[in-house]
Amino acid sequence: MNKRIAVLPGDGIGPEVMSGAVRVLQEISDCFHHNFIFEEGLIGGSAIDEYGNPLPESTLNLCKESDAILLGAVGGPKWDSISQSIRPEQGLLKLRKEMGLFANLRPVSAFQPLIHASTLKKEVVENVDLLIVRELTGGLYFGEPSERRGENKETAIDTLVYHLHEIERVVEKAFQLARKRRKKVTSVDKANVLESSRMWREVVNQVAKKYPDVIVEHMLVDSTAMQLIYRPEQFDVIVTENLFGDILSDEASMITGSLGMLPSASLRSDLVGLYEPVHGSAPDIAGKNQANPLGMILSAALMLKYSFGLDKEANIIEEAVMNTLNEGYHTGDLNLEHGKQIGTSEMINKIIDSINENQAITGILTAYI
Ligand code: NAD
Repeated sequence: MNKRIAVLPGDGIGPEVMSGAVRVLQEISDCFHHNFIFEEGLIGGSAIDEYGNPLPESTLNLCKESDAILLGAVGGPKWDSISQSIRPEQGLLKLRKEMGLFANLRPVSAFQPLIHASTLKKEVVENVDLLIVRELTGGLYFGEPSERRGENKETAIDTLVYHLHEIERVVEKAFQLARKRRKKVTSVDKANVLESSRMWREVVNQVAKKYPDVIVEHMLVDSTAMQLIYRPEQFDVIVTENLFGDILSDEASMITGSLGMLPSASLRSDLVGLYEPVHGSAPDIAGKNQANPLGMILSAALMLKYSFGLDKEANIIEEAVMNTLNEGYHTGDLNLEHGKQIGTSEMINKIIDSINENQAITGILTAYI
């Protein structure tokens, strides 16, 4: 399979974790005789330094011409003092909007060796396997007007706007994903207060008619926030609007107690997607060989699954991560009992060794068949 992959390492630990994802993908491509072409672009603070623009035209064009995009992380204290009109995060927001990436997917599942790292009880966490689908390009974060008014600017206005088609396409995506999982969709809204939520609910009920095999439930956002830490194993696919999704996905990410482990995907209706870890640029540990590269590596696995349809290859990466953690290897952010703490580059080497081991065993078995 020939695929062009845009590689945007970004800032802070971005380049360190990205090097891991690219090495792992190269290994997979060699094992399975694919042809992945990696092309790098600047985004965020590093792009501001070079071009005075967090999303230069060259990077946007590279992304538009690629089959998928891998992104490390953007931002850091170096760019915090820059006037609000040019900030690293704007590069990422603009990229999502320009590429039409309307559905943000965040899987959260329990990794057995890490269960005790959660602040929740073992029995609450151990069977968690949920996927949050967040609408990413509409709602409050993109509403107009968004401004200060009045003589002394004493009034602040933000607007929550949703168009029917924006809701339809993300809800449709959630149902499609649920069909490949445990066939349950929880739609989250605030329909007792917000008109946009009442429209959201109507659309969900309409789309649900096409998926009679999928169970649908509606839940208010405040109740969902509570249920997520009370009984998180009840959820399969959660679909919700931008602001609620932002908050709930951060809450859900702490169920497993390991920010450095979590991948994400941002998709549109075709197969093109942007894949990035949930964590930020972690400037406190940048350049120290301490970053956990697994969130980025698992994001690369999501890319193989969702954009390229390479489920087997994606599973091999996920198994390599699980096996390495089961052997007790971990970076400093994870607190494994009886574990062996290693650095970023050593963790990347372990994952690659595990992929090779898996392939060698498969090769031997195939030779005997
Ligand atoms: P952060 O996720 O960068 O870091 C929070 C804490 O978690 C830090 O102590 C950090 O060392 C640790 N951490 C994060 N990822 C880790 C990893 N892979 N391995 C080990 N430890 C890890 O969040 P923050 O400190 O709030 O933000 C730092 C910068 O990142 C800010 O400029 C922020 O705007 C930016 N940010 C970017 C993104 C993105 O690019 N999508 C997301 C969130 C934050």
